[in-house]
Amino acid sequence: MSSNIKAIHAHEILDSRGNPTLSVHVLLGSGIVGSASVPSGTSTGAYEAIELRDGDKKRYGGKGVQKAIKRVRNIEKKIIGMSAFRQREIDNAMLLLDGTRNKSKLGANAILGVSLACAHAAAKQKKLPLYAYLRSAYSLQPTPYRLPYPMMNIMNGGAHAGWILDIQEFMLIPRQKSFKERVRCGAEIFHALGSLLKENGFTTLVGDEGGYAASLSKNQDVFQYLVKAARAAGYKAGEDVEFGIDAAASEFYDKETKTYRLNVEGKHLQASKLVDWYAELAKKYPLVSIEDPLEENDWYGWTEATKKLKGVQVVGDDLFVTDVERLRKGIEMKAGNAILIKPNQIGTLSETMDAILLAQANGYHVIISHRSGETTDTTIADLAIAVNADYIKAGSLSRGERVAKYNRLMEIEEELKYRL
Ligand code: PGA
Ligand code: ZN
Repeated sequence: MSSNIKAIHAHEILDSRGNPTLSVHVLLGSGIVGSASVPSGTSTGAYEAIELRDGDKKRYGGKGVQKAIKRVRNIEKKIIGMSAFRQREIDNAMLLLDGTRNKSKLGANAILGVSLACAHAAAKQKKLPLYAYLRSAYSLQPTPYRLPYPMMNIMNGGAHAGWILDIQEFMLIPRQKSFKERVRCGAEIFHALGSLLKENGFTTLVGDEGGYAASLSKNQDVFQYLVKAARAAGYKAGEDVEFGIDAAASEFYDKETKTYRLNVEGKHLQASKLVDWYAELAKKYPLVSIEDPLEENDWYGWTEATKKLKGVQVVGDDLFVTDVERLRKGIEMKAGNAILIKPNQIGTLSETMDAILLAQANGYHVIISHRSGETTDTTIADLAIAVNADYIKAGSLSRGERVAKYNRLMEIEEELKYRL
């Protein structure tokens, strides 16, 4: 049959940090080819699925993905001849072949590359945009499409910017009606912030996700700069644009002393004091979303934090790792009220979809997310549209691999005008 998988090919490409990653192509009987490439995190959660790397120090410092390419060949043998339309069956076949809880045998990078490339091939075969195909493949509700609010990381710290700030990400959340106006708002504030930083003697070099990496003396100074930059660009913080952070707290948690080490602030705080600090910031500034406020094992702390940070979106990234089991526990414990969705944290598109659907059924906000190591692949933009995600987190308004996602969403916004 024309929709059946005829061949699968994977090769190494470079991600935005210059490290190898996988590009996967799926060829169907019809001659149609679908392709996808795989992102890679650096502040990865301990419970994420395994990313298979060669470990051969003589090639790419051990970061080659030739082993993963070999695993794609094993996967090809298993799923060749299957219809690309059977996304769940394809994903299940890969899970069976892997047989481990954390995908350590095949590697989540090998599995995800195939999973996404199959979906792209199937969408092309059906002559549908990927977002529309995903709706039909997973029998999603045919509700009107809605563009997500972008969460734009314009100031980088933590592991993405040499620890110049303790907080990993400071994000703008523009609230305009159309997506293109949200992008415009983000870009204008980004440039205004650049000018302000320059005027005050800071560098305007950017970190891994395209946000400025300026060594301000305190984390909270960033908010003052954001408010000023918004004003300079003609927007009002708290109305036209709100703020979010990703603390990525597992990264600065000290297991020995059970404290959080805010080195830039010169403070070592217990969980409850750290949450008080967030609450203060949320009172003073329009800070409406806090991701990974606490480390990934402190479930009780998360429950408390969610209660205390009333009115704030408390987002589980390292806590949930796009895993339905961990999300289920969070829902039971009322830990967090939103989930970050990163397909490569779990490995297959179908498991990603399951996490999204479980979150939505339980009133958790859904934020589809990139990784700090990215490619120009824009699958997450289509995924956000398919599921009517509340937010998309795709980095700053600079660097091609970041703006590719925003550009794809602006394209979809236009396409929806003439398609519907
Ligand atoms: P990562 O960072 O891709 O390096 O894990 C992104 C995040 O923590 O949200
Ligand atoms: Zn995060």
